[in-house]
Amino acid sequence: MTARWDTCWDAAPELYVLLKESKSLESARNKVARYIEAREWTYACDVSEIETWDYVLFKEAIRTLKNVISPKNERISGTSSLENLWKAATDGDSDVGDDFIDEFAHFFKALKMKADVYPSRLMEGIDIPNFDEFEGRTAGVMRSDYLDQMGERMDRYLSRYKSGLDPGIIEKRDENRRRILDILNSNEDDWQDWRWQFRHVFKDIQGLETIKRAIKLDEEHEASIRLALENHVPFGVTPHYLHLMDKEPSDMDYAVRRQVFPPLSYVENMIAHRKDKKWAFDFMRERDTSPIDLVTRRYPRVAIVKPYESCPQICVYCQRNWEISSPLMASALAPMEKIEAAIDWFGEHEEMMDVLLTGGDPLVMDDSLIDRILNRLSQIPHLKSIRVASRTPATVPQRLTEELCEILGSYQELGRRNLCLVTHFMHPYEVTPETLAAIIRVKKTGIEIYNQQVFTFANSRKFETSSLRIILKQIGVDPYYTFNMKGKTEMEDYAVPIARILQERKEEARLLPGIFRTDEPVFNVPGLGKDHLRAWQNHELIGITSEGRRVYSFLPWEKNIARVLPYIYTDVSIHRYLQRLIKRGENPEDYRSIWYYY
Ligand code: SF4
Repeated sequence: MTARWDTCWDAAPELYVLLKESKSLESARNKVARYIEAREWTYACDVSEIETWDYVLFKEAIRTLKNVISPKNERISGTSSLENLWKAATDGDSDVGDDFIDEFAHFFKALKMKADVYPSRLMEGIDIPNFDEFEGRTAGVMRSDYLDQMGERMDRYLSRYKSGLDPGIIEKRDENRRRILDILNSNEDDWQDWRWQFRHVFKDIQGLETIKRAIKLDEEHEASIRLALENHVPFGVTPHYLHLMDKEPSDMDYAVRRQVFPPLSYVENMIAHRKDKKWAFDFMRERDTSPIDLVTRRYPRVAIVKPYESCPQICVYCQRNWEISSPLMASALAPMEKIEAAIDWFGEHEEMMDVLLTGGDPLVMDDSLIDRILNRLSQIPHLKSIRVASRTPATVPQRLTEELCEILGSYQELGRRNLCLVTHFMHPYEVTPETLAAIIRVKKTGIEIYNQQVFTFANSRKFETSSLRIILKQIGVDPYYTFNMKGKTEMEDYAVPIARILQERKEEARLLPGIFRTDEPVFNVPGLGKDHLRAWQNHELIGITSEGRRVYSFLPWEKNIARVLPYIYTDVSIHRYLQRLIKRGENPEDYRSIWYYY
């Protein structure tokens, strides 16, 4: 037996013996299944013996282990974890990564009530008073003191993530802005002009040279941007966004750099699939959900319309990277006849109560065209809501001029129809005084703003997303969705295990007041749409590959509407994710309960 299995077999020695003594895989399956059932029944009969919190982990581990060893799920997931365990027990090792062993060591710990995750790492070293022994004011004060300590511990994490409204950061950004303006031989008035911002988007080799004069670019990013530009892989950064980056790469600007500077593997993948990118990268299968050009429909009462298919700058993980070839590309604006036909489609479909005007970024279009489109949409009596999606509050807040806000506000007719803005902030470092001013201009017209965040490696550290929720709420933006990084293989460097998004929700978001955590964590199922990750009935873990990746089956949300097959998704490995966090300087102990979220 190789030493790397020690943690696994030490956690449940009797399972090791059962596996080792099995003469065949089927015999091992039988024995393990009976063992799990017996444990479950024993504890179901005598729950008082167990700490409730251990029981929760135990129950979920039992359910998941049954799934993982089921022959049906082995067939669906195309992997047999049990076979790998059985071989390891009988032969001393099997052909699996340490990631796989780590997964089963934690399953077995939960099965034996040795998960060791409570009390939480957040409150480590602080005694939890037995509140039940006290009552009245004494109990109230005691509880309040304890919660103070919890709040103080949270602040230790939250204070690591500064927003661009921090006075020190504002000062640094002032310098960055002046440096960029000098390089571009421009002035402060130019900076405030969105047309100037659009004209100076860095999107070619000359732009790359300008970026290098403004900030220190690390070698890998320079090489990948160069490769992207030489091969027409979309790349672009606005001057405003560039000024969010520190002169030297730092821990603070890590997320904003990765938002726009692609990794080499991504660029190489995009190049490899240049000819078939429409098929290779259209993860959401928009090609199969479009009833007419420019319209995508996945839900009964809402559809999206995309009159402009590009953006001022390109997010590396963009789900529409298969149709955007460059920022602000000339061909991005659809012909007017197609836009009119798409709007007619909404008029003809009385089932539509909500329209999402998106792209690309529709606020790139000029004011008169935005006005014209909104005017036509507003004349459709059954549309009760118009949503305008734009990332300009983060990329070019100058675009939200008084004039544009007035146009948007003129279509807000409460009682008849609501118009709102849906935006996309990823990190507190993206929030600046210019952003705040733009948000205030929009909100003065009575329009609400909602945020959709994509949960990536760059914003997934402990309390990092909570710090975004807090600053967004402070500037008047409501968190709306948190998207699990989609299963696009070219984007694995950005992906975060599903277990982490669930852990974040329960152990970090949950500690904020409800009004701050209004976002819902979701997984976009290709061709179907959002699956709420907190609704455990909608997805289940059905296998662990030999590389330690979890295989999930997503049960379509609309199973009561149409017959659709479950979607099978292979996640990134938790072990690898934790290793990457350690490289970033994180303490893995802060994440130790991640294994028990399925
Ligand atoms: S703002 Fe949206 S559409 Fe534009 S590049 Fe980013 S993810 Fe893609």
